Amino acid sequence: MDNWKKVLAQSITKPEDLAKQLGVDPKEIEDVVGPYRMRITPTVLATIKKKGDAIWKQVVPEAIEIDDIDAPDDPLEEDTDSPVPHLVHRYPDRVLLMVTNQCPIYCRFCTRKRLVGKPGFLKKGELDLAIAYLREHTEVRDVILSGGDPLLLTDPMIERVLKALRSIPHLEIIRFGSRVPGSLPERITPELCEIVKKYHPIYMNLHFNHPDELTPAVKEACGRLADAGVPLGAQTVLLKGVNDDPEIMKQLMHQLLLARVKPYYLYQADLTKGTNHFRTTVETGLKIIQSLQGHTSGMAVPHFVIDAPGGGGKIPILPSDYLLHLDEKGAVLKNYENKTYHYPQPDHDAKRELPMVGAHLSNGSCSAGAMDDL
Ligand SMILES: *Cc1c(COP(=O)(O)O)cnc(C)c1O
Repeated sequence: MDNWKKVLAQSITKPEDLAKQLGVDPKEIEDVVGPYRMRITPTVLATIKKKGDAIWKQVVPEAIEIDDIDAPDDPLEEDTDSPVPHLVHRYPDRVLLMVTNQCPIYCRFCTRKRLVGKPGFLKKGELDLAIAYLREHTEVRDVILSGGDPLLLTDPMIERVLKALRSIPHLEIIRFGSRVPGSLPERITPELCEIVKKYHPIYMNLHFNHPDELTPAVKEACGRLADAGVPLGAQTVLLKGVNDDPEIMKQLMHQLLLARVKPYYLYQADLTKGTNHFRTTVETGLKIIQSLQGHTSGMAVPHFVIDAPGGGGKIPILPSDYLLHLDEKGAVLKNYENKTYHYPQPDHDAKRELPMVGAHLSNGSCSAGAMDDL
């Protein structure tokens, strides 16, 4: 057996084992792990420092999950946007392909809590159906392998999926969404990297929520993927009690860049049933973005998005304070230090030179009131 499969098999999946390792009363969580599976890999277990810390909260089941009875199972209405099984086609030019329901760890806040944990991988007939759909839909240029976690497929299965996708002429890029590098770094073998390399351009967006997740072994796993020519992005979920703090979030973004991973999305938590105790206010996310923008490398600032309930897709939200005013004359802007600047619109009628450009830029700030003169 491959080493990574042995490591995965050593994960905590039963309440008794959790009791032994972390001193949780198994009775408290027995009713939870029935509907919502648990798996905690050795890497993640070793990262837990104390009861209730940021890593613990993400993976240790809590009774509160099954009290959340009124919330929707599928708030993003992915099932409605599925033309063939395992495929979600919501945007014009890209689709999600769910290749398994298995994950290395079962995040307690998972958006696909209704699906994950069930055994099995995409069957050959199901892959054929998805490929047939994609072959017909020439507008699709980007396929995102998701699940579950696509990197839990065996090497031959991954190769079969990639090969089938690359037989579609109009398909440009293939992406993986995965939490494997951060929770089961042993899976990122040289053999896997060799397979992936043959099907470029391949991109991967990795799931990370807290700076403690970036252990030396995890950073090395990311490095192996980066060395294989895979551009790495990170997706982070804003979670109460885990990372709803500007300083922790800044540390996370810096650790990601050190691991050669570019922060891509910061998600406002979804409304999914069993996860609502993790939700924060929208202002919390906006404050975090404001605390990063301008204060640290632009590379460290993800897009803050809300995946709209009802299937509207991801909608970006920015602190509204940056653009104070915009009209045909120009924009009044506020920078990260709360100073105000003016950017004049181009004057294509050439009725006037652009007298204000140099003046305002070199003067630095100017007040919004002064704009009336332009
Ligand atoms: C997130 C998502 C995508 C990819 O969106 P990008 O903004 O291109 O990263 C595609 N399809 C669905 C259904 C998604 O949820």
